[in-house]
Amino acid sequence: MNIIVCIKQIINSIINQESNNKRYGLNPFDEYALEESLKVKDMLKAKIIVITMGTPDAEFILRYSISKGVDEAILLTDNAFKGSDTLATAYTLFKAIKLINNYNLILCGKQSPNGNTGFVGPELAEMLNIPHITCVKRIKSINNTVVIVDRLLDIGSEVLESKLPVLLTITKGDNISRLVSVKGRILARKASIKIWDMKFLNMESNRTGSLGSNTHISKKDENNKQKNKEIFTGNASSIAVKIVDKLLENKII
Ligand SMILES: Cc1cc2nc3c(=O)[nH]c(=O)nc-3n(C[C@H](O)[C@H](O)[C@H](O)COP(=O)(O)OP(=O)(O)OC[C@H]3O[C@@H](n4cnc5c(N)ncnc54)[C@H](O)[C@@H]3O)c2cc1C
Repeated sequence: MNIIVCIKQIINSIINQESNNKRYGLNPFDEYALEESLKVKDMLKAKIIVITMGTPDAEFILRYSISKGVDEAILLTDNAFKGSDTLATAYTLFKAIKLINNYNLILCGKQSPNGNTGFVGPELAEMLNIPHITCVKRIKSINNTVVIVDRLLDIGSEVLESKLPVLLTITKGDNISRLVSVKGRILARKASIKIWDMKFLNMESNRTGSLGSNTHISKKDENNKQKNKEIFTGNASSIAVKIVDKLLENKII
């Protein structure tokens, strides 16, 4: 079983705060996708490849994934990818997956907090000409030909079955992301990350970046931005203390 997980680096995540003090990390929905892939690997003989399209510092989330048990990681990075909308992002991921050319299951997060469209997974499935199921809470069972999933609905959930290969977009289920082991950390530090650029992907420059994007932001309204926002930095326990102090100060607790 070959599994590909598409993951995205986002701003304001706490995952890598302790390591280099930057406020970047993994999209939480991709963390759920990662956990689902690892659960499949616990059940079956499976190889997991993670891919991200991003700037070179997105390498961190790839190493983080390896520390959790992922086998291989690919960073798609090129100045030409800048300005990609969801279509151009999906196309770039599609070119990489075509190059890998060996997959049974592709997992994406349900959405990513930056763009919040939830488009990339379904667009990618259409390009690959494979079925997709969105909002999957959990993979109930899987073998080399069929997967059965629990899909979240507005009220309750439904059970769906699909033949493989299929693309699933994963939402928060009831699973808890596994902890990173010391062995995992060592493996992640030593792992070599594949770096693929536009040339390697044999891409046309008018299919990625701003040139390959059909959507353009014509206006941005930031009036609804919270003006009194306060950002707490530090490790998890010091942030927790600061939050409690703030809540006490404002007589909320
Ligand atoms: C005109 C325009 C220009 C833009 N320019 C930039 C830019 O320069 N830099 C930038 O970072 N963003 C840019 N964006 C935002 C970018 O298009 C989206 O963040 C990106 O396409 C993903 O869309 P989304 O956040 O809605 O993802 P969703 O569709 O909500 O994400 C769902 C899932 O798709 C997968 N996925 C999404 N993005 C990636 C990725 N990059 N790598 C691997 N998997 C992924 C993940 O599994 C994720 O959970 C731009 C958007 C527009 C409209």
